[in-house]
Amino acid sequence: MIACLPRNLITGGAGFVGSHLVDRLMEAGEEVICLDNYFTGRKFNISRWIGHPSFELIRHDVTEPIKLEVDRIWHLACPASPIHYQTNPVKTAKTSFLGTYNMLGLARRVGARLLLASTSEVYGDPKVHPQPESYWGNVNTHGIRACYDEGKRIAETLCFDYQRMHGSEIRVARIFNTYGPRMLPDDGRVVSNFIVQALRGEALTLYGDGSQTRSFCYVEDLVEGLIRLMNAEISGPLNLGNPAEFTIRQLADQIRQQIDPALELIEQPLPADDPLQRQPVIDLAVQELGWQPQVNLQDGLVSTIAYFRELLDF
Ligand code: NAD
Ligand code: UDP
Repeated sequence: MIACLPRNLITGGAGFVGSHLVDRLMEAGEEVICLDNYFTGRKFNISRWIGHPSFELIRHDVTEPIKLEVDRIWHLACPASPIHYQTNPVKTAKTSFLGTYNMLGLARRVGARLLLASTSEVYGDPKVHPQPESYWGNVNTHGIRACYDEGKRIAETLCFDYQRMHGSEIRVARIFNTYGPRMLPDDGRVVSNFIVQALRGEALTLYGDGSQTRSFCYVEDLVEGLIRLMNAEISGPLNLGNPAEFTIRQLADQIRQQIDPALELIEQPLPADDPLQRQPVIDLAVQELGWQPQVNLQDGLVSTIAYFRELLDF
């Protein structure tokens, strides 16, 4: 008998998180189809695999259906940075809703297991702190973040309705702020903004007074969690994030310490609906997956800064 390794479809595979997942699965000797429309992803991220017999690259938009034979669908396609997902909010909502609908349809047709990359944004500006999976969230349905937050909420709903109606095998990961090499320098997210500003010798832009909090997970830790969830017998939703919580001012200080402590901070207006605090409860991931983050913020920043130094030639 020939032992078959899983055939994986990774939507959004040329993006930041997706390309690290491509690496892990390819290094495990599995087959990978990477599907992307290159809105925020780059071929460069997966260029080392182009030409490998177990790797295929497809330019496709998940808002359109597609027919493929695969065993596992890692559904990551969706811009994640606020400046990107707010560029065309209707398209963002379509990507989450129609994209997830199309991928669930594909999963059902071929009997594949589907993992959705959902988000801590389903908790909105949370009134419960830290956030367990049982919290239903506090999302402004018509604000500027709604295209993303509500898009992911309906994507989760579709997953669980496919499971109830059709017995689909689904896995829903609620991903908290993740950072690391391959973030785009003009991505607009806080870690990349601060590092790029600091490397250029510019002041770091604190939105508001910097007292809002986030919990930052290193990308390799996240990818390990995604793989464990895909292989586990639990649908979720399940939080994946690093529970170490920092104010944005503390993050700026850590980055200044590593690059240049003399750099200034300048305050700029806080964007609308910016959540005041965010920290995952990860008990479920610890119990069910035996997973917890291994890389602390200081160490994760070292390799992220090294990546940006090389990219920007500083
Ligand atoms: P990213 O923007 O780097 O990657 C998204 C990828 O999806 C890109 O390659 C982009 O080109 C592709 N894409 C976007 N719209 C598409 C479409 N309509 N059809 C096909 N491809 C499309 O973002 P990321 O940080 O790698 O995030 C990956 C996933 O994880 C996203 O679903 C995001 O919502 C989720 N997530 C990420 C974070 C984080 O902090 N990075 C946090 C929570 C959730
Ligand atoms: N932020 C900031 N300066 C920046 C970019 C972001 O102070 O240059 C803040 C932003 O207002 C938010 C936090 O950092 O409070 C995290 O922002 P990001 O866009 O990375 O993620 P999200 O808000 O989606 O969690």
